[in-house]
Amino acid sequence: MAAVVIIEDDQRIRELMARVLAEKGYEVEGAGTALDGLQRIVQTSPDVVVLDMGLPDLDGADLLKMIRAVTDVPVVVATARSEDRDVIRTLDAGADDYLVKPFSVEQLEARVRAVLRRSSSDAAQPSIEVGELKLDPSARVATLRGSVIQLSPKEFDLLVYLAERQGTVVSKRQLMAEVWRQPYGGSEKTVDVHISWLRKKLGESAAESRYLETVYGVGVKLVEPA
Ligand code: CA
Repeated sequence: MAAVVIIEDDQRIRELMARVLAEKGYEVEGAGTALDGLQRIVQTSPDVVVLDMGLPDLDGADLLKMIRAVTDVPVVVATARSEDRDVIRTLDAGADDYLVKPFSVEQLEARVRAVLRRSSSDAAQPSIEVGELKLDPSARVATLRGSVIQLSPKEFDLLVYLAERQGTVVSKRQLMAEVWRQPYGGSEKTVDVHISWLRKKLGESAAESRYLETVYGVGVKLVEPA
């Protein structure tokens, strides 16, 4: 059973998140202030932390740095800021993933599950299905209509990252930061090139997309073909 510390000053939201995660089998502790949260992290060494960036006693980014000074625990940040630069700043400060408010409890649980999966590479990772596309992150095997598709390691990582967020638009900047681990350097052209290679392997094109839908000026999302 994985232990979660939720640091959120809004009691109503904190209790809702705690209840949902507890129902899913997590052991949950809540904290209403940054300092209380930090203390609980030090005392209980949880498997994952959910951190609200807007706290009364300390800026969330400062708290994140303090957490990073003591532990590598995966941190999912909840933020009301959705601008690219804020997201990048958050990831750069040491967050593993983030949620933009308002988010659903399903999104919360999915992110917590995703960071836990990434942090415990030994554990069996559940496969992901989108339409006729099936990804097995543990075995690193992708199949389409039952046939294996040959993907490079980066293509596979990119596809899994998008599949974990199916239906959600992901920016190229975010992909550079998270799949390529290059929040600043690196060209977004790299993403474009990999997307076009993926399209070819999925048997589609930019003009006739099925799984990979480009949202002009925003990014790309993986969808179940109509
Ligand atoms: Ca808050």
